[in-house]
Amino acid sequence: MSGNLLTMVVAAWNEAEALPALHPRIAAVLDQLLREHDVQGRVLYVDDGSTDGTWHVMQGIASGDRRVSLLRLSRNFGKEAALTAGLDLVEEGAALILDADGQDPPELAPAFVARWREGYDDVYGTRTVREGEGWFKKASAHGFYRLMQRLSKTPIPVDTGDFRLLSPRALAALRELRERHRFMKGLFGWIGFNRIAIPYERQPRAAGHSKYSVWRLWNFALEGVTSFSTVPLRVATYVGLVTALAAFGYGVWIIFKALLYGDAVAGWPTMMAVILFLGGTQLIALGLIGEYLGRLYLESKQRPLYLVDAWLPAERVQLGATQSTGGVHDANRQASAGGEGA
Ligand code: UDP
Ligand code: MG
Repeated sequence: MSGNLLTMVVAAWNEAEALPALHPRIAAVLDQLLREHDVQGRVLYVDDGSTDGTWHVMQGIASGDRRVSLLRLSRNFGKEAALTAGLDLVEEGAALILDADGQDPPELAPAFVARWREGYDDVYGTRTVREGEGWFKKASAHGFYRLMQRLSKTPIPVDTGDFRLLSPRALAALRELRERHRFMKGLFGWIGFNRIAIPYERQPRAAGHSKYSVWRLWNFALEGVTSFSTVPLRVATYVGLVTALAAFGYGVWIIFKALLYGDAVAGWPTMMAVILFLGGTQLIALGLIGEYLGRLYLESKQRPLYLVDAWLPAERVQLGATQSTGGVHDANRQASAGGEGA
């Protein structure tokens, strides 16, 4: 049964302009999946606390398409939490994660499904080109994915975003990971199972603008590194060791110099340089420890990952020829799962 169920999960924050262009594309693909691949497709839109007309637009879409479920979070929790909320509610079948801005082409869904049927659990889209994005974003993303590969033992494929299909067991595994600081690309990599890439060309945004400023991207990169690597802490140790060794050597030299030539209270510039250098290095190391400590602190609060404001499940009337399960019961079960998460 779950072998032919697929839910597309779309997290959206202020995407009122982009969604009306995206849904017809998704709807067409869902029709095609049912016709040609015997897959029951659904869509779950997650409104990540939008402040524009996104929720209104979503309700319009849902009223015209019975395959659409809607989830609204109580505020903007960020894409990672919004995706988590959506994936938590996919109880049956596989999930396909898409961006709301049309940058991840839904038309590739049949290719993803084909891989899933071959037995792959994590079918991820790898960008061969990124259209419509500035050189800085491309270059920093390129550098970041390579840095992550070196820093972390978790396999995180390069040039791969959240665009992917997760099999039911991969979804179940992901649901076990309830950490607050969620670097989804890392979590997907952590669960393992059979993985395969599908190369695709990333299109420019359909409408609206990117939600990730340079500052937000920087914080996102910090999140990624601290969530999946403790190498920076070790670097601090080694920098400390090297500095201590150098300081020791310098100390020995100063003593010898004083013994040989006497001490004429020279060396003010050297002293300042050493003090400033040591002070700076110590502050950097402290800040680094602070980054990890702060995350530990927030993690220890055990707050929920997100809060649900509204959950409108799709009508579970089966559209195709395959048999149906208890529709209303199914939806209620899902709603209470959302309540637990909340
Ligand atoms: N998004 C979200 N919550 C946020 C930020 C972004 O749900 O706090 C969604 C956004 O609506 C979009 C996706 O995450 O569907 C990717 O965002 P965006 O296109 O701005 O990122 P980019 O493609 O520029 O990296
Ligand atoms: Mg985008």
